Amino acid sequence: MTDTFDVVMVGAGMAGIMAARDLSKEGYSVILLEARDRVGGRTYTKRAFGREVKLGGAYVHWSHTNSDHDVAVEPVITRLVDDVCRRFPTPFEPGAVDNSEIEKETLEDRINSFNIPTYEREVLDGILSGMVHAYNPHGSYWAIDGGTKRLINAIMAESSVELRISTPVSSITDNGSQVTVTTRTGHKIHSRSVIVALNTIGDIKITPDIPPRVRQMIDQKNPVMGGKIWARVKGEIQPFSGFASVSKSPINVARVESRYNGDTLILCMCSDVRTICADDREAVQAALREFVPDIQVIDTASHNWVTDEFSKGAWMMHRPGHLTQGALQMRQPHGRVHFAGGDIALPVVTSIDGAMGTGAAAARDVASGLASGKY
Ligand SMILES: Cc1cc2nc3c(=O)[nH]c(=O)nc-3n(C[C@H](O)[C@H](O)[C@H](O)COP(=O)(O)OP(=O)(O)OC[C@H]3O[C@@H](n4cnc5c(N)ncnc54)[C@H](O)[C@@H]3O)c2cc1C
Repeated sequence: MTDTFDVVMVGAGMAGIMAARDLSKEGYSVILLEARDRVGGRTYTKRAFGREVKLGGAYVHWSHTNSDHDVAVEPVITRLVDDVCRRFPTPFEPGAVDNSEIEKETLEDRINSFNIPTYEREVLDGILSGMVHAYNPHGSYWAIDGGTKRLINAIMAESSVELRISTPVSSITDNGSQVTVTTRTGHKIHSRSVIVALNTIGDIKITPDIPPRVRQMIDQKNPVMGGKIWARVKGEIQPFSGFASVSKSPINVARVESRYNGDTLILCMCSDVRTICADDREAVQAALREFVPDIQVIDTASHNWVTDEFSKGAWMMHRPGHLTQGALQMRQPHGRVHFAGGDIALPVVTSIDGAMGTGAAAARDVASGLASGKY
């Protein structure tokens, strides 16, 4: 087994598998180190209720779904984003305009500044609790045909990387002429360059240390303690899509997703998984009865991304100041170490598509460094 590669890829989420595939297709030797016993990261398909369900990221396309939904949602969202074009005239350059005046604004500050009636405020609060990263006035995301599992299998089939699962990395040292990656078991792997594509970078010691703004962002961690619960409910109930304020319900977004063997599958998004036990059918049923009074929950399925040591949070929502500082700097190479991942994607942070885009971009940058002799 060789321990010297052109590139070490740390993290086999969507960003990592894309970068690894692209570099291996260019003919570079690449090793992909993944802490979990599977690839895919925060996209995760698992069997539940006798079928496959997606417990992490799943949706990638827009579609216009429900006009009632738009009647309630569109005015408040329009209000929320009405200055976006002025603030971010070129979406891939968040620092193009001086936004220091709103840089420190939290979502709560933003909602408060609207001074809107309670009902509208609660609709907005419910949407933002889990979906602000995904919202588009034309409707909601669509699931990938065959799921993220099919997408992952297709990417991996085109890849000739050496994949090592159940191999958490503990440190990365760049001595200026090569990089040494050390796993938790103390195993050392050498390479000309490294791409780090994960959101638990705080657990990895990087030498020399990353720039202060990036370090600050990483130390403050992913603030999103959200999650997704699937509920199988009795019978084929009428389609609905609803939002609830975080102050009123542990489930903030709920909608009918599909039918299954005479029953209905409901997708629930929670802004804080600590407020509800996803395995507790009674608790999920009580929360869903705020949306549909007589609903009967038969079974639930979920994955706790917050307590999972290899994610420590769900999708990403940057804390005030980080988007135009830490996240932006993290997109730049740090010596021979490059970063990728949905959390630093632009213009849409925290998405499958964004993760894949940053992976492809990091692969291009590293390939150019390798080809030019820089690495
Ligand atoms: C519940 C939920 C719902 C979501 N819904 C959507 C959606 O509908 N649409 C959408 O576009 N996005 C969605 N997202 C976001 C999307 O899933 C992520 O943005 C995307 O998958 C991130 O990919 P990534 O490769 O950047 O990071 P990750 O998927 O987090 O990959 C990082 C990888 O690194 C590994 N790792 C961690 N620590 C170490 C270590 N020390 N050593 C080695 N490996 C390590 C992890 O195990 C993981 O495999 C959702 C996320 C969640 C949690």
